[in-house]
Amino acid sequence: MSSAFQDELQTATRAVREAVKLCRAVQTSSSTLSRDKQDRSPVTVADFGAQALICRAIRSRFPDDPIIAEEDSQTLRADAALLERTTQHVGDILPGASSADVCDWVDAGGHEHYADRFWTLDPIDGTKGFLRQEHYAVALALVIDGQVAVAALACPKLSLPDASGQEGIVLTAIRGRGCQADWIDAPPNSSSGVAAATTATTHGQDARFCESVESGHSAHSVSAQIAQELGISRPPVRLDSQAKYAAVALGMADIYLRLPTRADYREKIWDHAAGLLTVEEAGGAVTDIHGQPLDFTQGRELSKNRGVIVSNGPLHHDLLAAVAKTLQTG
Ligand code: AMP
Ligand code: MG
Repeated sequence: MSSAFQDELQTATRAVREAVKLCRAVQTSSSTLSRDKQDRSPVTVADFGAQALICRAIRSRFPDDPIIAEEDSQTLRADAALLERTTQHVGDILPGASSADVCDWVDAGGHEHYADRFWTLDPIDGTKGFLRQEHYAVALALVIDGQVAVAALACPKLSLPDASGQEGIVLTAIRGRGCQADWIDAPPNSSSGVAAATTATTHGQDARFCESVESGHSAHSVSAQIAQELGISRPPVRLDSQAKYAAVALGMADIYLRLPTRADYREKIWDHAAGLLTVEEAGGAVTDIHGQPLDFTQGRELSKNRGVIVSNGPLHHDLLAAVAKTLQTG
């Protein structure tokens, strides 16, 4: 059996687990030191710390690979308290890390342009959820020739229905090899992982759908119309981050809708790459609102796509028809 991408997957999985350790430590510390970025979205010590750890891990194992990540060190360099706290948290995991190291590692994620082989990282997807102590994700993916090839998606607040309160799942996937789910806290080399599989739901009226908590990220009123069109009677489950992709991959939801709220917004590649592969490898489907595949060849944004529609697979055709009818794009 070929071991293609095993090394990449192992590096990625270890790195996201380490980043979750940092995120949890920040959450239990006295302050997350949240700051507002230029686009008014929040960023915390944990976003920078997680990006530093993961970029360092990739750079040491795959030094030639570009990384397109969400954060840069500009805010960090200009804010002594933020930098000091981030360095402390990174140092708790990598003893001896200096502030200069932390900035340098964060900036290793500063690539802008498409390459035949690159990583994309959201160190904390759903920072608003993280601040509310709700769902967030650490999302890392390797893109080769425009196709997501490897993904590690950690969802520290996600649980399985019968897990007796245990929290924190990491989904991993290599294209063509399925999607596996394991506890974030599973001991190394444990065999607790299970294959993730989407539901077999074929009728809209039986479907459960999820969407963003933030109505600024996905148009709730439009998804309600689409749900009605499909005959869905249950209210949406709202959760932050790519935990929505994980919910579909694990069969906890059938559909994830992300509908444009603004004509000029373009989805970011790090908000979708890892989630897309976990869902596709679990048997599901991911397109934009027009049914087009997500195009990861455009740099930091999915500039050729509008919105994102995710399903268990069997529902996708009817779902796209309902989207087209509702948006009158069919
Ligand atoms: P979620 O937790 O699914 O609501 O998504 C969080 C992500 O939404 C953040 O990482 C942002 O990149 C992204 N985001 C910010 N503004 C918008 C917007 N107007 N439309 C869609 N996504 C957005
Ligand atoms: Mg994000």
